[in-house]
Amino acid sequence: SSLRSITVLGATGSIGDSTMDLLRASPERYQVEALTANGNVEGVVKLAKEFNARFVAVADESKLDELRAALAGTGIASGAGDSAIVEAAERPADWLMAAVSGAAGLKPALAAVDRGATVALANKECLVCAGDFFMDRAAKAGACILPADSEHNALFQALASGSREELTRVIITASGGPFRTWAAADIEQATLAQALKHPNWSMGQKITIDSASMMNKGLEVIEASYLFALAPDEIDVLVHPQSIIHGMVEFRDYSVMAQLGSPDMRTPIAHCLGWPDRIPGRAAPLDLAKIGSLTFEAPDYARFPGLKLAYDALRTGSGATTVYNAANEIAVAAFTAQNIRFGAIARLVEATMNEWVRAGNLAPLSSADDAIAVDHKARKMAATLLPQIAA
Ligand code: NDP
Ligand code: MG
Repeated sequence: SSLRSITVLGATGSIGDSTMDLLRASPERYQVEALTANGNVEGVVKLAKEFNARFVAVADESKLDELRAALAGTGIASGAGDSAIVEAAERPADWLMAAVSGAAGLKPALAAVDRGATVALANKECLVCAGDFFMDRAAKAGACILPADSEHNALFQALASGSREELTRVIITASGGPFRTWAAADIEQATLAQALKHPNWSMGQKITIDSASMMNKGLEVIEASYLFALAPDEIDVLVHPQSIIHGMVEFRDYSVMAQLGSPDMRTPIAHCLGWPDRIPGRAAPLDLAKIGSLTFEAPDYARFPGLKLAYDALRTGSGATTVYNAANEIAVAAFTAQNIRFGAIARLVEATMNEWVRAGNLAPLSSADDAIAVDHKARKMAATLLPQIAA
């Protein structure tokens, strides 16, 4: 079989690392076209040399000289700045992993979508931010969107068992994070170190904090709605502390199809990389006898209000999910800088969404520029509201 050309946006991150691990297992199958990072020049250059990539980009413009120096004599082309990340996405790779973190991943993901690429989408924030038009645009360009997020990848696999008309609901599971059993008053005061201790998954810092607040599950409810054209009441969340079942689809005969796997992102990424075939996995095979029991609980909106806000944002529509994501990014940055308490994250998201609606800002989004304008304006609003929420 011929070589597949591959681009990885966010190659130096946690998802990037899992993706490179899968590529490393079968180097004879892949040609790496482009790799990108934000500021980690050393990390991305090391990968570029190992995989003999054709192009490397970093988002941080001030690192261009450092990047050029590190690549001297290799013949690998390079660029810096947001436009260089977009250029990496535009280059002709058959398969692209979109694993930049945050809304910064939107423009490059759309660049890949617009050229009709096969896009493994890990960057849920970009879909949440541009949900109103992202999938339509992919359909128009003939792009194939493969969900890399474990829950959505599970749904994608389970959905193959029936038609859209036969589906009654989907269920995405949540580990519940490190504060699953904590009292509300303790969650309110949780420290950064406590929020960063995820029980099952090893992930980037931002998504780990989102898992602790269950904002990650909120983003995933929105992601599922946009990816699969589901109404909010067709999407249920189920707390499942072992993180073995990732997603389930219920059909009208009440058969429920589930996808299971070890909590290791290399399994859903391998599914995306192999699709429509199956390639050998790199995660530990599932040993259910050893795990013994799988347990389930209903999510608690009172202790994790960020989850309920996601349903509110979806029902509101017209940019409200973009605001939900933008306010959360500001809140997580403030919590990470230890400027606000953990409990203030969801409060800031709620206050920003309310203020957005009150100010009459709701309007349907139809382009990346619309989504980015709303994202920027909502970030400003959240930053303005931050001091009173923190107080
Ligand atoms: P990380 O923080 O580990 O990595 C983020 C990557 O994006 C790094 O390569 C980073 O570069 C790069 N990056 C960060 N900011 C920018 C920017 N402004 N412009 C360009 N590149 C940037 O994140 P994760 O790998 O954990 O997550 C990536 C995405 O995948 C997120 O959207 C997350 O929600 C999603 N996801 C992650 C899962 C996981 O298990 N980790 C599971 C499911 C979804 P640098 O290293 O130079 O900073
Ligand atoms: Mg997930």
